[in-house]
Amino acid sequence: MDYYSSQISKLIEELSRLPGIGAKTAQRLAFHIINMPEEQVAALSGSIVEAKKNIRYCKDCFTLTDKELCPICSSPGRNKKQIMVVENPRDLAAYEKTGKYDGVYHVLHGAISPMLGIGPADIKLKELMLRLQGDVDEVIIATNSSLEGEATAMYLSKLIKPAGIKVSRIASGIPVGGDLEYIDEVTLLRAFEGRVEL
Ligand code: ZN
Repeated sequence: MDYYSSQISKLIEELSRLPGIGAKTAQRLAFHIINMPEEQVAALSGSIVEAKKNIRYCKDCFTLTDKELCPICSSPGRNKKQIMVVENPRDLAAYEKTGKYDGVYHVLHGAISPMLGIGPADIKLKELMLRLQGDVDEVIIATNSSLEGEATAMYLSKLIKPAGIKVSRIASGIPVGGDLEYIDEVTLLRAFEGRVEL
């Protein structure tokens, strides 16, 4: 890309590192940014830096938050005895959008995948088991219906059931391999209500 000045090339290169951004989109974004008012560019770059600096895991559920506890865990209206286990914060957001779930969550940040070399120690599983030493009635496993999501669900149920805690799995109806974040709210709700005990 030597037909651009080195700073423009650098900007394009950095943007193209982002997921889903190919070379063409990176170029378009770079020129868009260059044409933006300076204060808007400062706001954009500032919010990226601030978010990176301040965002951390919630102490209880491990979703991303800028406080010690996320808004869900710190809400007195949520049932702390019901824990829904999801793979990532986007899945949590998908369930929150239904507005019908009043329990809390546990975000694993991934799923077990022998093929990718991701084992139980690589996701927030230990942290979940620690939480279960408290007063918990039900664990709802809402991992994706992919191979990895199913393997994780099986592993979890084997691990949790001996503790005498009810373990359920959200119903299918969610297409195999389907990511929770792309499923509409009605289907999500139906999957939740039709959950089966493992
Ligand atoms: Zn939380």
